[in-house]
Amino acid sequence: MVSKKGAMYFEPKTKAATRRYVIERANGCCEYCMSPQNYSEAYFAVEHIIPKVFDGKDDIDNLAFSCLGCNWHKAVKTVAIDPLSKETVALFNPRAQAWTSHFAWSEDFTEMIGHTPCGRATIIALKMNREFLKNQRLAFAKLKIHPPKHSLITA
Ligand SMILES: [Zn+2]
Repeated sequence: MVSKKGAMYFEPKTKAATRRYVIERANGCCEYCMSPQNYSEAYFAVEHIIPKVFDGKDDIDNLAFSCLGCNWHKAVKTVAIDPLSKETVALFNPRAQAWTSHFAWSEDFTEMIGHTPCGRATIIALKMNREFLKNQRLAFAKLKIHPPKHSLITA
């Protein structure tokens, strides 16, 4: 099948195949806070970037892999306020935007830093520097399993 952008992509036929595809595409990490699924007891969500209540589709172009915390805090939000400019901006869209264009890690890799209005607003809206995540990142960094390599590659 051909996507809207013209590139060929795999179109999963079942819910299970869709989930496997979304996990693989995300390198097994939450596409917002970069938490790794394989170190979590809870199954991460395949979430709708544009929520279904706003007519978001089930297409793989509208799906993202999300830890339960990010999914919970995102809920049906699509916009948030940039704490710097105070402007309302669209939340980060993992299908349309590169993570590294909007986010970076603090020097000790425990906190996410927003480089753009979108990045800053998304960090606040999804509470991506919540205490649990900062503690987990600290421990994972000591074990050399954080940050994920794909969060360090500049787009
Ligand atoms: Zn997350």
